[in-house]
Amino acid sequence: MNRFDTLIFDLDGTLIDELPNVDAGYRAAAHYAHETYGIVEELFAAVAPLAARDAWWEPDWLGPLTDRYGLSAWDGLSEQFPGPRSDLQPLRDWLPTYRHSAWRAAYARCGVAADSHVIDETARTFTGTRHRGRVRLAQGAAGALEALADRDLAIITNGPADGQESKVYRAGLGRMMKAVIASTAAGTGKPDRRLLGQCLQSLPHRRRNVLIIGDSLEHDIQLALQCGIPAIWIRTSDHAGSVPDGVAVVASAAALPAAIARLEEQ
Ligand SMILES: [Mg+2]
Repeated sequence: MNRFDTLIFDLDGTLIDELPNVDAGYRAAAHYAHETYGIVEELFAAVAPLAARDAWWEPDWLGPLTDRYGLSAWDGLSEQFPGPRSDLQPLRDWLPTYRHSAWRAAYARCGVAADSHVIDETARTFTGTRHRGRVRLAQGAAGALEALADRDLAIITNGPADGQESKVYRAGLGRMMKAVIASTAAGTGKPDRRLLGQCLQSLPHRRRNVLIIGDSLEHDIQLALQCGIPAIWIRTSDHAGSVPDGVAVVASAAALPAAIARLEEQ
């Protein structure tokens, strides 16, 4: 029997679903916009993510950083992107400008030329709400993690180290994980194989029979393929495309213990 003693998970879409927190942030900002200018909340909540995305993609230097670290416009609204690499400094310097122009554009799409202090308060409302409360575990993740808790569990995640680590703890995953590696802190993102080396180095035990589990073919499964490590792809319905050789597929985290047991019997 080939027992996997180390399971390395992706975070977003694999172990957690943070969309309710992000939505709550947009809805709180929309509520404030309604109280301040009488804007219809549903309209503001609908246009704000689009305005944020458009503002994010405006500078041409940001595309390579977004790809390298796996960043997103909504993280730009609320996170600080800590890490050792100086290539992220232009992004950190730009964040206040980005947030101001994203929220200003959201108001403009609702026909309002918002005052500067209102824009600042809208930004604070989004961030404060998004960072508040628990983060929901992905479907089936709680039971799967309980069943797999006798192994070394770790997370490799693309995204800002501050936001990703906060989500790990607010989802109640902190105590279970022997290591959490976020791309901005690591200085590179999935599928760069150096991330696996960093993760394994920070684990306590030497023996390693590693399995990688994630919902992204491009990031998680590619990382596994590049490292020659077995993988399980949590393939939700919005993922099309063929399955690479040697990769097992499940529909949700609930199916992981059984899928791992099947791989171990092969
Ligand atoms: Mg993911």
